[in-house]
Amino acid sequence: MNIAHLLLGSAREFRDLPALARGTATHLTYRELWRKVSVMSMHLRGRFGLARGDRVAFAMSNGVEAIEVMYAIWHAGLCAVPMNAKLHAREFAFILENSGARLCFVTPDLALTIAEAAKQAPDLKEIVDVTTRSYTFMEVGDPIALSEAEPTDLAWLFYTSGTTGRPKGAMLTHRNLLAMTLNYFADVDRPPPGGSIVHAAPISHGSGLWNFALLARGSVQVFPESGKYEVPETVELMNRWPDCSIFLAPTMVKRLIEHGSVSELKSEALRLITYGGAPMYVSDLKHALDLLGNKLVQIYGQGESPMTITHLSREMHADRKHPRWEQRLASAGRPDSCVAVRVVDEAGRSLGVDEVGEIIVKGDTVMAGYWNNAEATAKSLRDGWLWTGDVGAFDEEGLLTLKDRSKDMIISGGSNIYPREIEDVLNLHPAVAECSVVGRPHPEWGEEVVAFVVARDGRALAPAELDRLCLDNIARFKRPKDYKFVEALPKNNYGKILKTELRKLL
Ligand code: AMP
Repeated sequence: MNIAHLLLGSAREFRDLPALARGTATHLTYRELWRKVSVMSMHLRGRFGLARGDRVAFAMSNGVEAIEVMYAIWHAGLCAVPMNAKLHAREFAFILENSGARLCFVTPDLALTIAEAAKQAPDLKEIVDVTTRSYTFMEVGDPIALSEAEPTDLAWLFYTSGTTGRPKGAMLTHRNLLAMTLNYFADVDRPPPGGSIVHAAPISHGSGLWNFALLARGSVQVFPESGKYEVPETVELMNRWPDCSIFLAPTMVKRLIEHGSVSELKSEALRLITYGGAPMYVSDLKHALDLLGNKLVQIYGQGESPMTITHLSREMHADRKHPRWEQRLASAGRPDSCVAVRVVDEAGRSLGVDEVGEIIVKGDTVMAGYWNNAEATAKSLRDGWLWTGDVGAFDEEGLLTLKDRSKDMIISGGSNIYPREIEDVLNLHPAVAECSVVGRPHPEWGEEVVAFVVARDGRALAPAELDRLCLDNIARFKRPKDYKFVEALPKNNYGKILKTELRKLL
């Protein structure tokens, strides 16, 4: 079973429907894409001399070529190593060296950086810029047959975003990706043929992982010409292409709903926004539902179980009359169909309702391990269960509420304090644009709570006001002992706040 079978199926079923688009223009139909991929595959095996299981990396701004390259890699029985275009040169060098990639595709903006990084990657034999003849030549020649693959063959080395330490390569197999795709149809959505997905988020991550489900249903994959997430352009493309699905990180949803051009988004144009990858605050979520209607699904997953641990369905978002509506919105929803999810103590014993522990997951989407990292694999995979490093609790309805990464939890005077709870309260203040709460070592209490706050539009904010808000909403011992007002919060390339950096500032 090769995940590229999905494209073969769509080439047969949806032949002349658009498969890829650059901005508002169709780039290739399904039939054309299949042919191109089958010829590129011949070049990968022949001209570049790659053999089953070899790794092929790419460092590309979002563009149609990313999909061409990925399916050519799978067609040829190779393993893709997608790298986020915004990584630092040192991170590229690390991934190229660690994965042992033999070939790397680049967009011109990254050609120099990758050439430099390649000096530290002895296995890397060639770099192909997708705007040069070396790439266009890959269309020339005869197609070859789809390479067979075992379900356990590696398809995607997913390098974790590394909010702490070095990235690790989660080994995702063809089976993992297929299970994730079927789970989309079971728990997220089953779009009718002829829809679209706009890739506004990095293709190396969530948006790229969603490509399979939409491609299998004959949707066109649309790439903004800017190669980035710009709200007016995204809105224009959603209006242009039918029945649009989109994956956005919570900060991207916030930018959408706070941008003036959202008023131009036609309600029939948008099918679904899936959001996830980081917490979405309830106040933002309500605002999004008010503006966009019942078109949101939350997913909670991690590279090690891609896009699949729990989901909060469209129906739960919409059921405003439900007495637990707000608690539901603050949760990450129910376990996905394809996995078992437990909340456990350190010894792996299941905990009861509302008891907080580590979230562990088992199922067909769970990675095979970390590439060349037996130690990290042994820590994360125990008896087939993936220890996520996330902390949470199931409630009486079986909904999982995420607290924090275990390492972000603050222990003060022997009590566990979950930063997210305090952040949720601070976000209620209209002058708070963003905030993040961390622990600072304290000689007596172990740690004390400190909040970093970005004021909206440079407005003045007094600590006393925020203190009052906390006292009105949460236990006294949880309120920050210090507020640090900053211009911006440090974030990684996926827009996730780097608490490690904030702790260093203290
Ligand atoms: P990554 O492997 O880079 O996709 O990061 C996965 C991590 O992001 C998870 O382990 C969680 O800590 C966090 N995360 C993912 N989805 C959600 C969500 N819906 N709500 C809160 N945090 C999330």
